[in-house]
Amino acid sequence: MSDIETWEKIGIMGGTFNPIHMGHLLLAQWAMEEAGLNGVIFMPTGNSYMKDKIEMLPGSERLAMTRLAIHGRECFSCSDLEVKRGGNTYTYETLESLQCMYPRARLYFIVGADCLFSIENWYRPDKIFRHCTLLAASRDGAPMEMLEEKRRELAKHHGADILLMAFPNMEISSTDIRRRCREGRSIQYLVPDRVREYIAQNHFYKNL
Ligand code: ATP
Ligand code: MG
Repeated sequence: MSDIETWEKIGIMGGTFNPIHMGHLLLAQWAMEEAGLNGVIFMPTGNSYMKDKIEMLPGSERLAMTRLAIHGRECFSCSDLEVKRGGNTYTYETLESLQCMYPRARLYFIVGADCLFSIENWYRPDKIFRHCTLLAASRDGAPMEMLEEKRRELAKHHGADILLMAFPNMEISSTDIRRRCREGRSIQYLVPDRVREYIAQNHFYKNL
């Protein structure tokens, strides 16, 4: 078990993790090094109001895969806060809960560039920015200048504290992994072996 109470700088890696993949794990690792975090809490979402419901596995299964993915890694932890909460997932509520649980820690919310560009449309972005530093990584080849422009805009309009990370372009997404499963193609090296085995045993993403 990770001793999160002693962490001064906590990373939060939120996602639907449907399924979790190597891009998520490398991003968490990268953020830890870039920002000097003590560790990262993976936070699978509950029922997201923004995602296509048909392809979405239940929270319990996405949580199970996340646990398998981080197994044995001391500085990675996994929380069932959002999955247990049920209903829509609001990031600001999660950040408020975590700040109450770990009052001395500084929270760093880790996102890929797609989320940096959409976060203003999330519920109560002002409250999100109040509770954390955003650690935003490049994704899908979006130029750093675009990220920098967005960073400045969010800082100006919302007082957001944002650190940008140049992240290697990994063309990995859960969408692509689900497509591969559907087409009977391999997902080896895209997800940890334990996750791949769990997906195969349970015939996930086959008949969508
Ligand atoms: P989906 O295709 O279902 O949307 P996804 O691969 O985007 O899945 P999410 O669970 O939506 O995964 O993403 C969780 C977080 O991880 C988001 O902040 C997202 O930007 C980031 N992320 C996921 N994959 C990558 C990647 N290859 N490079 C950088 N960031 C990534
Ligand atoms: Mg996504």
